[in-house]
Amino acid sequence: MIPVLDALFRAVFGDDGEAEAVKQTYLSVDDLKRLRDAGHEIGVHTHRHRVLPRLDFDAQKREIQIGMEFLRETLGETRFTVAYPYGFHGDRTRRAMKELGALAGVSMGRRMIKPDDIQARWSLPRYDVNDCFDRASNEIRYELFSNLSTGD
Ligand SMILES: [Zn+2]
Repeated sequence: MIPVLDALFRAVFGDDGEAEAVKQTYLSVDDLKRLRDAGHEIGVHTHRHRVLPRLDFDAQKREIQIGMEFLRETLGETRFTVAYPYGFHGDRTRRAMKELGALAGVSMGRRMIKPDDIQARWSLPRYDVNDCFDRASNEIRYELFSNLSTGD
């Protein structure tokens, strides 16, 4: 880690720096299990959050595969969707997804998935988590999901 980031992590999170930041910021395996048990789909977001099209085929495949292996080992998942970091993907990404047996990939269409989108299962739209919050009020933007059925 570069010294500036190390100093920032220590200033904000204390002596354990980055390790404490990870602990406080990211979901734990138990958190993932609770989300899955509540009915949420847990998908792959790659191993190191790299811009996939900038990597060669083998590196892209490895980024996705490591994420799949993590979910297989920790949650017992056998069916995988992938949210590409920053939404970027290309021909090599799609080839890697097919070879790894992924079901679908989501990019950054910033809208709800419609039935016609299934024809392009390697480029499904999604909202980024940052799209779903109003930064001024720190409230969830429920209007994004207002056309969803509640199943009632
Ligand atoms: Zn991301």
